[in-house]
Amino acid sequence: MSKIPYKIYLSEDEMPKAWYNLRADMINKPAPLLNPGNGQPMKAEELEGVFCSELVKQELDNDTPYFEIPKEVYDFYRMYRPSPLVRAYCLEEALKTPAKIYYKFEGNNTSGSHKLNSAIAQAYYAKKQGLKGVTTETGAGQWGTALSMACSYLGLDCKVYMVKVSYEQKPFRREVMRTYGANVTPSPSMTTEVGKKILAEFPGTTGSLGCAISEAVEAAVTTPGYRYVLGSVLNQVLLHQSVIGLETEAALKKYDIEPDVIIGCAGGGSNLGGLIAPFMRDKIKGLKNYRIVAVEPASCPSLTRGVYAYDFCDTGKVCPLAKMYTLGSGFIPAPNHAGGLRYHGMSSVLSQLYDDGYMEAVSVPQTEVFKAAERFARVEGILPAPESSHAIKVAIDEAEKCRETGEEKTIVFGLTGTGYFDMVAYEKFHDGKMDDYIPTDDDLKKSLESLPKF
Ligand SMILES: *Cc1c(COP(=O)(O)O)cnc(C)c1O
Repeated sequence: MSKIPYKIYLSEDEMPKAWYNLRADMINKPAPLLNPGNGQPMKAEELEGVFCSELVKQELDNDTPYFEIPKEVYDFYRMYRPSPLVRAYCLEEALKTPAKIYYKFEGNNTSGSHKLNSAIAQAYYAKKQGLKGVTTETGAGQWGTALSMACSYLGLDCKVYMVKVSYEQKPFRREVMRTYGANVTPSPSMTTEVGKKILAEFPGTTGSLGCAISEAVEAAVTTPGYRYVLGSVLNQVLLHQSVIGLETEAALKKYDIEPDVIIGCAGGGSNLGGLIAPFMRDKIKGLKNYRIVAVEPASCPSLTRGVYAYDFCDTGKVCPLAKMYTLGSGFIPAPNHAGGLRYHGMSSVLSQLYDDGYMEAVSVPQTEVFKAAERFARVEGILPAPESSHAIKVAIDEAEKCRETGEEKTIVFGLTGTGYFDMVAYEKFHDGKMDDYIPTDDDLKKSLESLPKF
């Protein structure tokens, strides 16, 4: 076999032409979204007030295995895809491990993460429907940035509700979004009813993703010609992100590489759901027995310490209910948590797969994550996003285990993005000012009391 290059690139022709819908091959389908008013599954008509029609179709479709990537989206993908699958030779050497480590790098675009893969798809369907604009929320800002880029490319308006603490702490992110023409509002704000209510109840709150979602949804349904778009958690987002997994599969096949372990960080679950899609398909079909590992922060541990139940997707409780591993919609990670991945729930697809035992999950404290990030940066060159570094941490742990046992495992992990806008967090780490706040059982019990009761 030929020596494997540092970077395995696909040609444009080898890029996937269709997204893969893992739900079509799942034995137990993910639970449907429910109408919080009557507890019944949401119908397409009900969702179409909030989301674009074509995206509603994708959201509700548990049967169609492939969705063709529209030409306009494919052409946009060609500007920054295919993304490389990198053989981490330098990291392997530094770790003195017999393991073979590969990472799929999604940070090679201005937004700096995989989120652009779904942003362009969602913006495209909004444009095709003749809409004027879209609203969304953003936490650290990657999703808002990606969506701003996609909207400016297609000539759509983009209103972003940015979690207040990030709005203040990440002025550069905010300005990138404004450069791409987005209108950015710190959340909670006085521009929506739900924002006013949250501010009255919690004056001085620095906001949360759940709260920004409520505001963005309200803005969408009260502004003619607008719909709401979401950058993670939803089935449609995992569908678009399958481009990551399909490219990874094709790149591995080019060199007859068989992974043993596939690792990804998990916030709402979109990059992991996308990365593992074709591998999980083979595992469900009994063709392969990959180990698939979700990595989450110890300060926001929805899979490892949450419950599998129907919950609200947002703080203001304006969204449909989703069945997922959740910490409760009122859960807000400790303010010193700098590592991203702060959403209280997990994609229904991944939640079901985890519940069915197809996937493992581990949680890691943030100082360990930053240690791994730094080790990685110093040998592989790339400055990783804190979110991505959760996967790095566990990949390094696996590779070190191989050093002990002598096993030549092949490890593949998702490197979702770059960390240029996370230097305040890196600074805290370097100055020894970062600690590991881990919620107590009592904290979680309290936030889980807010689960809807039937
Ligand atoms: C948003 C983001 C994540 C987490 O979101 P998922 O939906 O869980 O993939 C991970 N890494 C980066 C760089 C991100 O921007």
